[in-house]
Amino acid sequence: MNDFCMYPLSWPVRGAGGETGTWRTRRPVLLPEKCTGCLLCWLYCPEGVIAKADRAIDLNYCKGCGICARECPVHAIEMVKED
Ligand code: SF4
Ligand code: SF4
Repeated sequence: MNDFCMYPLSWPVRGAGGETGTWRTRRPVLLPEKCTGCLLCWLYCPEGVIAKADRAIDLNYCKGCGICARECPVHAIEMVKED
């Protein structure tokens, strides 16, 4: 197998699709009192917009997919409708 076959076609890069925050109809809201710091949300976010240090979410690029909320084992992220 050569090196070409060993790389994925793409991987998450913050803002790679432009300002994906404009796609959003729902936004994730972190409930810090519930967060255990497991980092699953950071790991799974396809836009790479959750900060590892404090789980702050960059809403300029968060597209509102809800994967972070779905993967959080303690329900520390809620998806709420955009106004
Ligand atoms: S909803 Fe969550 S997983 Fe989806 S882009 Fe926004 S921060 Fe990332
Ligand atoms: S997945 Fe949930 S508990 Fe884990 S770091 Fe993210 S918000 Fe916190």
